[in-house]
Amino acid sequence: MEGLLLPVDRHTLAVASAMLLGFFAFLFAGSIVLPGIRAQGQPLANGERRAYKISGMTLFLATHIVVAVGVLVFGLSLTPVLRYFKPLLVVANVFSLVALAGILARGWIQERAIERHSKLPWLVHDIWFGNQLNPTFLGVDLKMFFYHPSLIGLGVILAAFPFRQYELYGRLTPQMGLFLCFWWAYLFTHYLKEEFMLSTWDIIAEKFGFMLVWGDTVYVPFWYSICGWWLIDATKPFTTSAVLALAGFHTLGHWIFRTANWQKDRYKRDRSAVIWGKPARMLGGRLLVSGWWGIGRHMNYTGEIMVYTSFALCTGLVSPWPYLLPLSLVILLTQRASRDDAKCSAKYGELWKEYCRVAKFRVIPFVY
Ligand code: NDP
Repeated sequence: MEGLLLPVDRHTLAVASAMLLGFFAFLFAGSIVLPGIRAQGQPLANGERRAYKISGMTLFLATHIVVAVGVLVFGLSLTPVLRYFKPLLVVANVFSLVALAGILARGWIQERAIERHSKLPWLVHDIWFGNQLNPTFLGVDLKMFFYHPSLIGLGVILAAFPFRQYELYGRLTPQMGLFLCFWWAYLFTHYLKEEFMLSTWDIIAEKFGFMLVWGDTVYVPFWYSICGWWLIDATKPFTTSAVLALAGFHTLGHWIFRTANWQKDRYKRDRSAVIWGKPARMLGGRLLVSGWWGIGRHMNYTGEIMVYTSFALCTGLVSPWPYLLPLSLVILLTQRASRDDAKCSAKYGELWKEYCRVAKFRVIPFVY
């Protein structure tokens, strides 16, 4: 890392601003002009369903093309993304606050009655949780849009690590290759069935406040890339058996994580969906008990925690710091699982109790 990170000053902030705004503008324009598929959201409180344009995969591929042309045709390097990491972090924070201020201001002007479900003062509540469920800008749904700079931006930062390693050592380690493949697969499978997002809690129930705006713009790209910093100089290659064991662990976690989400999404769209070769079984016609949902109440979280652990394991035992990433996800998701259980218990009552008897654990078998 030494000698790589540029300081935060007027010049680097100006360059970082151009990078960040250019990136957002590219993705936003792409969301409008590039093709996407049409999908319907889950029913809203008033029974209506919102129409969404799902264009994440197109944007993901378009970014690949731009980067590939930049690198192969114009000889560009991605290392500047790491050099400007600190100023980019500052600019991303400022940008998220400015965007949030605009979104909140519009909410206060346009929303007739803002429901507030906490005892927090209304201003603190609105800043943290937001005051609009589905804000749009120029016809683009902002809650869905912000996932793109978040995840594709994370992808660009991650892709910069092998550039740096190659620049320094003239080769890439197998663990750097694994790390990249794992993350690429994570982003690719996210976009492969991006419409599953429409049945997630954030899209259905969370308003667009600081938690999501800052989370998308800053937390995900800048924090989730943390392991890469410890891979650049870790030049002792992993053994073949370590590589195979790690790839197996990642694949298992990834499979659980994605298929659990996709099973619930398919079921929510079509109650007669086929899961693991059989028609979906349900409790009271409302809760899925087929597939992963008949084993644990949040196997999607279990799988994702395994995936994040595999990212950290790519760094071996170089430092404990990369392990803060899976640890932070464990804290976030166990806390979320308990909030979700409380929400579902209130919504489904006795049926939820019955469900808990079938799917006995939340995230970790026999433990939690
Ligand atoms: P879920 O997709 O698990 O959604 C929970 C909701 O699903 C419940 O509130 C309930 O809503 C419904 N539900 C629960 N059990 C059943 C069942 N058996 N049958 C039918 N419906 C059921 O959670 P999230 O939205 O929190 O997460 C979605 C994905 O996003 C997860 O994979 C998670 O790991 C990931 N995630 C990742 C984060 C990250 O930073 N990497 C952060 C947060 C989430 P309803 O009222 O509609 O029935």
